[in-house]
Amino acid sequence: MADIGFIGLGNMGAHMARNLIKAGHSLKVFDLNEDAMQYVAQSGAKTAASAREAASAVDFVVTMLPVGANVRSVLVDDGVIDAVRADTLLIDSSTIDVETARAMHEAAGEAGYLFLDAPVSGGVGGAEAATLTFMCGGEQKAFAKARPILEAMGRNIVHCGGPGQGQVAKICNNMVAGITALAVSEAFVIGETLGVDRHTLYNVMSTSSANSFVLSAMCPVAGPTEKAPANNGYKPGFAAKLRLKALKLAEQAAIMATAASPLGGVAASAFEMHIAHGNGDLDTSSIIKLIKPDIK
Ligand code: NAD
Repeated sequence: MADIGFIGLGNMGAHMARNLIKAGHSLKVFDLNEDAMQYVAQSGAKTAASAREAASAVDFVVTMLPVGANVRSVLVDDGVIDAVRADTLLIDSSTIDVETARAMHEAAGEAGYLFLDAPVSGGVGGAEAATLTFMCGGEQKAFAKARPILEAMGRNIVHCGGPGQGQVAKICNNMVAGITALAVSEAFVIGETLGVDRHTLYNVMSTSSANSFVLSAMCPVAGPTEKAPANNGYKPGFAAKLRLKALKLAEQAAIMATAASPLGGVAASAFEMHIAHGNGDLDTSSIIKLIKPDIK
C-alpha cells in the first residue's frame, strides 16, 4: 500500500480520495477549503497545512483542481515539484489545457520526476462508485506505476500516449459530447414543432444512425427516458458551465493543431450564450432552451 498526497478535494476529488483510503492507502490531503479537508479526514486521511506538506515524503501526489492555472500554481508556485521525493510520481487528474499539461511534464522532467496527466470521465457518480475512466499521457513506466493507484478510483485505465495526450483524448471526447448535445436539441425542437411526438422521435433516433450516449443518457426533453436531467428540471448531471470549459479547451487544442473546428466553435458560442442567460448551473442538455426557451 502506498503513501499518497492528494490535493483538491472538491466534488470529484473528495470521492476519489475516499476510494484510495478504502483501498488501503495512506492519505495526506490538502485543499484551500478547510471543510473539504475535514470531510475526507473523517474517512481517515491526515490533513496537511499546505500543498507542499501534502506532497512531501509520499510515493504519489494526485492533484484534482479546477483549471490549468491552479495546477501550475500548486505544482510550481507552491513548490510541490521542489518538495517531492525523487521517486514520487505526480499524477494530475484535473481537466486542463494541453499546453499547461505539457509544461507540467517538462517542469517535472527537469526536476527529475515522473509525471502523468490522467484526466477522467464518469462524473461525480463515477468518482463515488470508483468507476471512472482515466485517460493517461506520459511515459509507459509512469503509466505502469500509476495503474494500481488509478484502479482504486476507476474501472477503465487507458494509456493514450506521451505527455499531454491524456488531456488531448479527454478534450476530443468532450468536444463531441458538446456538439452532439446541441445537434440532438435542434432535432427535438424541429421534430416536435412539425408534429412528431417526442417519444416517437426518441424511439426512431435511438435505434437509428442518430443514436449516441448523449441522446440516451441526456435526452434534452422530459419523458422519453427515465433518468434524463430534463425530467428533473435540468438539474446536473454535467453542468453547462463545465461543458463550456471543455469546449474552450477544445478551441485551444484546435488552434495548437492548426485544425479547422467549425462545429466546436459553434457549440462553444451556443453554450456561451446559454450561460449568459443564467443557465450555467443547469445540465448540459438544457442547451435546448437556447433554441426553445419554454421547452420542458
Ligand atoms: P471542484 O471545484 O468541486 O473542486 C476543486 C477543488 O480544488 C475545490 O475544493 C477547491 O477548493 C480546490 N482548490 C482550488 N485551488 C486550489 C489550490 N490552489 N490548492 C488546493 N486546493 C485548491 O471541481 P471538481 O468538480 O471536483 O472538478 C475537478 C476537476 O475534474 C476539474 O478540472 C473538472 O473539469 C474535472 N472533472 C469534473 C467532473 C465533474 O462532473 N464535476 C467530471 C470530470 C472531470
